[in-house]
Parts: sequence; C-alpha cells; structure tokens
Amino acid sequence: MACEYEVEFKATKTLENVEKDVKEVVEELKSKLLHPDDFNYTLKVSDDSINLKVKSLEKTATQFLLQLDKILKEKLGKKYKVGIKDFSLKNYIIEFEVTQEPMKPVKIPFADLKIEGKKATLLYKKLDETFVRRNGVERSIKLVEEKIAKQFYEGKGEYHEILYESPKREPLWKEDPTEEMLKRGWLVRGPTKGKWFLRPQIVSILKAMEEIVMDELVKPMGFQEVIGSNIISGDEIWKKTGHLEGMPMEIYYVAEPVTRNPEEWESFIDKLKITKEIPYDEFMKLIQIKPLQGLTYAQCPIIYWSFKNRVIPNEDLPLKIFDRTQNSFRYESGGRHGLERMDEFHRIEIVYIGTPEQMIKIRDEIIERYKHIFNNILEIEWRTAWVTPFYMQQSGEEFKQDYGQKVKGTIDFEAWLPYRGSREESEWLEFQNISIVGEKYTNAFNIKPQKGELWSGCTGIGLERWAVAFLAQKGLDPEKWPKNFRKYLKELPRGFRFF
Ligand code: ATP
Ligand code: ZN
Ligand code: MG
Repeated sequence: MACEYEVEFKATKTLENVEKDVKEVVEELKSKLLHPDDFNYTLKVSDDSINLKVKSLEKTATQFLLQLDKILKEKLGKKYKVGIKDFSLKNYIIEFEVTQEPMKPVKIPFADLKIEGKKATLLYKKLDETFVRRNGVERSIKLVEEKIAKQFYEGKGEYHEILYESPKREPLWKEDPTEEMLKRGWLVRGPTKGKWFLRPQIVSILKAMEEIVMDELVKPMGFQEVIGSNIISGDEIWKKTGHLEGMPMEIYYVAEPVTRNPEEWESFIDKLKITKEIPYDEFMKLIQIKPLQGLTYAQCPIIYWSFKNRVIPNEDLPLKIFDRTQNSFRYESGGRHGLERMDEFHRIEIVYIGTPEQMIKIRDEIIERYKHIFNNILEIEWRTAWVTPFYMQQSGEEFKQDYGQKVKGTIDFEAWLPYRGSREESEWLEFQNISIVGEKYTNAFNIKPQKGELWSGCTGIGLERWAVAFLAQKGLDPEKWPKNFRKYLKELPRGFRFF
C-alpha cells in the first residue's frame, strides 16, 4: 500500500508567515503515522493556498487529510484569524494489492484503474474534498475487490445443495399448464409485457392456495397482517436494502406528474384529442423521475422500513408479520415464461424478527408446515436446497456461503415440472424460499431490541408458482386433484363464454 498526491488547501484570505505553523502541524501528524519515516513531502505556501506534495506508505490520504484540515482550521483560525475554505487533490495515485488476480479487465468510475498481476494502481487526476470525506476512495478500493470476487463466483454458477426430497409422484399429465389454460380461457395475456389478466378459474386456484397458507401456517403460528404501499422509495428503502445496487435493472420505476395543474396539462390533452396519439414529447416534460421510486419488488423491505429507528420490547419478540396485498413487480425481460415468470405476480410474504434462537425455531416450524402442505394437501413432488442467499443476489453483495451450520442463508423450494422433461434432467421450478438474514435488515433500518441481538428472516410464497407446480403435475381436471386440496376448491367457477 502506498499513495502520493498533491493537495491544496484554500484559505479565506492571504496567508502571511504561516509556513512554520503549518509545518509543525504536518510534522506532528506525520509522527503519529504507521510509517512516519516513509512519509515524504514538500510544502509551499503562496498567496491564499497551502500546497503539499506527499509520498507515503499510508493506504490512502483520507485520514491524514481530514486531520490536517481540522487542525489547520483550529490553529490558523485562532492565531491568524484565517479560515480554510476547502481542499482539493491532484494526481492522486494509490497502489494496493488485490487478493486475486482478475480474470478480465475491471473498470470503476471516477478513477483510472490499472491492475498488473495482483498490483493495482488507482489514479485520480483531480478530486474534491467531499469525495474524500465520504470515503469515496476507500469504497472504490472495496469495489475493485468486489468486482474481482464476482468474476470468480459468477464463473462457478449458483451454489445448490439438496436438503430434502419428497416422495416420488407420478405426474397426471405432461403439458405446460399456462398454454392449456390460455386455450381454455382461464387467463389472458395482459395489455403490457409480462402481465396477465386472471379469470375466475385460475383465481379460484390461487385463492384456495392462499387459504391453505392461512389455515395451515399464518393463523396457527400467529402472524399479524399488514398492508404496505406498492410504491417504494429509492432513498428511504432500496438504498438501504441494497436493491438499487443488486437489481436496478429489474425494477419497475414510477414517475409522478410534475404538476396537477390542469392548465399545464392543457396542451397535452388538446394534442391527444386532435391527433388521437399520445404526445410523448409533451408527456416527457410533465412527469418527473426524481426522486427515484418504483413498484414493490418484494414486500419485506417496506415492512422493515415501517419499524425503522424503533426499539422493540424483548418480551414482544418475536414479531410475526405478513402481507398478502402488495403485488410484486419485476422486469424479467427475455426470461418471461407463462405463470412461472411474470412481470407482476402475487406473493404472500411472511417476516419474522427476533433473537437468533427464535429465528431458527420459527424457520424450522414453517418448513415443517410447508412439508405438510406439499406432501399431504397438494401432493406434489418437490425438494429443498441450500442456495446462494437471495439477499446477496439482490444487493450484489459478495458471495459468502454458510456451508456448515446452515443458519443464515436461503433455502429454495423446488418442484418438478414434467413438461420441461424428466425429473433427473430437467430444471425444477423454485416456487418459494425461506431465509434467515441475520442482522442485515435490522441494522439497515436501525431496528433494535431493548437488549441483545435482533435478527430477522422471511419467506416469500409465490402463488402463481405454487399453481404452476401443482397444475404441471396434477393437470387441469379438478376430479383428479388430491382430495385434501379439493376441500379448499370444490369446483371451478364457470368463467365466461364468448361467441
Ligand atoms: P428466480 O431465481 O426464479 O428469478 P428469485 O430468486 O428472483 O427467483 P425471489 O426474489 O427469491 O425469487 O422471490 C421469492 C419468490 O417469488 C420465488 O420463490 C417465487 O415464488 C416468486 N417469484 C419470483 N420471481 C417471479 C416471477 N417472475 N414470476 C412469478 N413468481 C416469481
Ligand atoms: Zn423477504
Ligand atoms: Mg429473479
């Protein structure tokens, strides 16, 4: 680690005879460094600026400069009644070792980066004080490491270790249920990409599944229902959860009108009336994309947000919460397929907040209840697997798997879709998952217990994916469905007929 730079402190007025004092301050700070003997500098005071050229073995200049700035302000202020406006850097070069040699070139913004072997060099031609104060340099170095680590784990593919396999079940058919339901008019494609209009038949199936979740899991375990807003703030929520770093390309963004004054919309309305086309050039001027907002990606972020900066009485733990009202929106683009990959879908999300022991107990009880539902009510062939945690994918964080204890992390639930091929060779469908996320979100939103550690976890139940898993194995004929499921759905609604 080494760095060199030229820094200029700008004073509020002409500096006279301050050189000796400045030198004293620099010398004092230098003596406190880790490598004082390797700190070389030249000092020049001219007019209203103090210029320092430095070569040092410090990791970065940040700490030294912030201290220097503070002490100079005190000393020059007291003795000479001069203030320091700000400082800026030129030709700032930082050398550091990366832990692994990258497989392909790495780029970061604001700086020129060169990596040879494990030796990395960052060059900032110019840099301002704010960037330094906000630890921009340190974050950039961390980002370089993150980007290299990502090259390695992306090459490896997703981690996947099977934990449980259900009894084998012979499928009743091998068709793609979405295609078949489209033919029968149980649903229709929606007016925009990846959206669907669900008709009574498929709705009755989703509602039956929701009822099963209520009866077998939510009610007996005492989860309390909340309703979150569907519009999520980038600054308040997604910056904290990491979604903007991990998933910005999957978010549906929302724009507010610039004004609700009808006069300002007059021209838009008139053009629309005359041409019968949406005047997009007018429209672009009438909507605002700042501040960044978007539609729900998953329900848990806003649930955590609702507890931000709160202290929870220990005797009230664990908190057990669920939301089944917010829809989830994801821009899936080329990956879309049927009800298993839509851009707007329906999830029940269950969140639990409490001590580490409580989190493990709740997760394990939920898994037992799921097992009962899938084996004895839906009677599907399914399995669970320990996988790359969703919150790492969703925040773009470095991938560190808890292989051994399997406490913090994600378990996926997967079902065989016979229409995709044999149970051995085809890709199974992840139809839900369950996680313990440790302190990730309680820290992000500063949620505290009176004492001890506060963890949390969640499980997202994708109703359309449940339906696909069930229908792909059991077909569309209610007569042939398992009898325990039929208790929840005696017969399908008639739906609509058309000439
Ligand atoms: P995938 O890897 O299939 O994209 P994911 O890891 O993005 O899934 P999560 O963010 O973990 O999924 O969401 C939890 C649950 O939400 C999934 O288990 C699934 O039931 C449901 N889900 C996710 N994406 C979709 C989608 N595009 N369409 C329907 N359901 C979905
Ligand atoms: Zn969640
Ligand atoms: Mg996804």
